[in-house]
Amino acid sequence: MSWFIRKEKGISTPTEMKREAPDGLWYQCPNCKKIMQTKEHKMNAYTCEHCNYHEKVGSEAYFEILFDHNEFTELDADLTSADPLNFKDTKAYPDRIRATMAKTGLKDAVRTGHGKMNDLNIVIACMDFNFIGGSMGSVVGEKIARAIDYALKNKQPFLMISRSGGARMMEAGFSLMQMAKTSAKLALLSEAGIPYVSLLTDPTTGGVTASYAMLGDFNISEPEALIGFAGPRVIRETIGKDLPKGFQSAEFVLEHGFLDFIVDRKDLKDKLTSLIKMIQ
Ligand SMILES: [Zn+2]
Repeated sequence: MSWFIRKEKGISTPTEMKREAPDGLWYQCPNCKKIMQTKEHKMNAYTCEHCNYHEKVGSEAYFEILFDHNEFTELDADLTSADPLNFKDTKAYPDRIRATMAKTGLKDAVRTGHGKMNDLNIVIACMDFNFIGGSMGSVVGEKIARAIDYALKNKQPFLMISRSGGARMMEAGFSLMQMAKTSAKLALLSEAGIPYVSLLTDPTTGGVTASYAMLGDFNISEPEALIGFAGPRVIRETIGKDLPKGFQSAEFVLEHGFLDFIVDRKDLKDKLTSLIKMIQ
C-alpha cells in the first residue's frame, strides 16, 4: 500500500499556520443547527434566519434594538446587592455576586434606562438571565421600582422585559417583598394613566410571573417562550395528571388568555411604538 504513504516531508501545515475563520464570525443556531454570519444574526435582532429561533439575549441587545441609535441614559447603574441574611450555599453569597459580576460585566440581573424609541420617550427595564438566572433580589426590585418612579415623574410609558427563573433564594423573604413593592409601584403608574407594557421572554417563571410580568396593560411575549409559575414536574405531581402538549409555551398561554399577543423580535420596536401611541 505504498501509494498511501507520504514520501515527501514538510508538506503538512503546522497547526499554528492553519488559517481558520476567526472566532465569532459564524453563529450556529442551537435549534436547527444551521449556520449564519454573526453579523447577519445581529441584524436579524438575534433570530435565526432559517427557523426563527429567538436567541436568548440580555439588556445590551434589547437596548440596542429598541432605543434610537442605542442612545439612552441608564438609571441606578451602580446599585449592587448586600447580603442581609449572611447566606451561604456552595459559596458565600457576596462571593457569588462578585464572581458573577466579573464573569458578566453586569452589576445585577436587571438594567434600567430611559431614551427615545422611534422618537417616543420611554423607560425600559430589562432583565439579564446570565446574572444568577435572572433572579429577582432586592436590587432587581429596587431598580424596577425606581424606574417606575422615573416613568411616573416624567409621564413616560414603561416597558418591562422579563427573563427570569424567579425569586433569588439567597435573599429569601427579601426577594418575595420585591413582588409587593413592584406591584404597588405599578398600581401608582396605572392610577396616573401611564401605559405599562410587559414583554415576557424565554423563560419567565416563578415570582416574576407572579408579580410585575403579568401586570401590564398589555402582556406580550416572544414566540415559543417558556412562561409559567412552577415547573411542569411540580405541577404534574401536585395535580396527579399528565399535562397537555405545549404546556407553558407562549402560544399555549396566549390561547388560554394570559397573553395579549406574541411578537417577533424583528417587529418589536415598531409594534411597541404603535401600541404605545394607541394607548397613550
Ligand atoms: Zn435555526
